[in-house]
Amino acid sequence: MRTSASPSLRTRALLGLSGALVVLLFSSVAALAADQTIVLKAARLFDGKSKALVQNGIVIVQGDKIVDAGSGLAIPSDAKVIDLGDATLSPGFMDAHTHLTSDYSGNYNDRRLKELDLNVSEQAIQATVFARDTIEAGFTTVRDLGSRFVGSKEFVDVALRNAINRGLVVGPRMLVATYGIGATGGHFDNTAGFRDMLFGYEPDYSEGIADGPDAIRKAVRFEIKNGADVIKAAVSGGVLSLTDEVDTPQLTPAEMAALVDETHRLRKKVAVHCHGDQAAREAIEAGVDSIEHGSFMKPETLTLMKTKGTFLTPTLLATEWIMGKLNNYPAALQAKAKAAAAARSEMFRNAVKIGVKISFGTDAAVYPHGQNAKEFKLMTDFGMTPIDALRSATSSDAELLGIATKVGTLEKGKLADIVAMPGDPTADITATERVSFVMKEGKIIRNGPPTPKTAATSEEELRMSAFAD
Ligand SMILES: [Zn+2]
Repeated sequence: MRTSASPSLRTRALLGLSGALVVLLFSSVAALAADQTIVLKAARLFDGKSKALVQNGIVIVQGDKIVDAGSGLAIPSDAKVIDLGDATLSPGFMDAHTHLTSDYSGNYNDRRLKELDLNVSEQAIQATVFARDTIEAGFTTVRDLGSRFVGSKEFVDVALRNAINRGLVVGPRMLVATYGIGATGGHFDNTAGFRDMLFGYEPDYSEGIADGPDAIRKAVRFEIKNGADVIKAAVSGGVLSLTDEVDTPQLTPAEMAALVDETHRLRKKVAVHCHGDQAAREAIEAGVDSIEHGSFMKPETLTLMKTKGTFLTPTLLATEWIMGKLNNYPAALQAKAKAAAAARSEMFRNAVKIGVKISFGTDAAVYPHGQNAKEFKLMTDFGMTPIDALRSATSSDAELLGIATKVGTLEKGKLADIVAMPGDPTADITATERVSFVMKEGKIIRNGPPTPKTAATSEEELRMSAFAD
């Protein structure tokens, strides 16, 4: 079947192969997909938007939709009842900032070399495992903000999204950004840090590298033509890039205006990678939908965000992971990570105080996939209430992603994306890290322990296993 995204022949052949593997996994799940009514019961329920949990939670599911949800509802006589006991039901979590097709969690230079060694096809097969790890952790939707392989023009994120939608691969619903857009020599220029012309060409719009308003418009159009659901751009430097300063602006106000105008014209949203305060201010004024990271943003900039309704996706976990493994990174990157980490905690506390809209997002790939829920604890450590942290990963993310009519709350008519975690997450937010039940669109992905890992899947695990004996 030809999709509008039209992945290359190579990618399509690859999907056939990885698909065959996962159809086996998926067939046991598919058997439950008939229209039998399923009732989920648990001691508590979080509906995705209220300020408190309710007791005696019940969600009634038929087909792929929620028929009713609330406290102590009557149970239809023909329903299959799944009693989850002393647990809390919640809408499936969302992560507004992942990179499911990559893994940056191990040694930086090893990874950089390996990325050049491995076929993109092999990296795509790995991505199917990262997708499964993510949904089994309770994340039923992700916004995937950039998928690029140096010297390659593949659209692996589009292929993975389509394979998941077709039921070939078990994974979260994905909204994908393809390459992301950035300046020559900026955070997204994959050839930066290598000898000039090592790959025989300078990247252009066809890999997301664009300079000047017209080139930015062309890059936006090209990415949407090839299947992007959302546009990502780098407007300031970043931590894990070798030739830029972390907080310098990388797009001009005119380029940002073109980026936002063209993307909104095509009815997509704009997410911008941004650490620096000046670049953030200019991007917010240009009308972007979310600032990703935002480490150095000052209170005045946060106040501007509040006024304009711009979301902040803080990705606290990514910084935390890098700071815990500093020796994995070259000295120049260590210095950038330290500066960003020193600034971001106060920035986040200020954002909470000022009342900026906060979306849950982690930068998965910087740390091993599947650990996304650790972000909840960091958010509460830096001043957010547990219930607001839960709302950020459900109804807030649904609003930012533009899918709030379909998912994000446990309400009649919404898609049945439902998770359960032990105990009460408002008393112990780390319960989110122990999700034991996952349903996506009425299909049970997991009820009990996760799928056992057959091999080390993350760079970090591979490194650890190399030293194990
Ligand atoms: Zn990222």
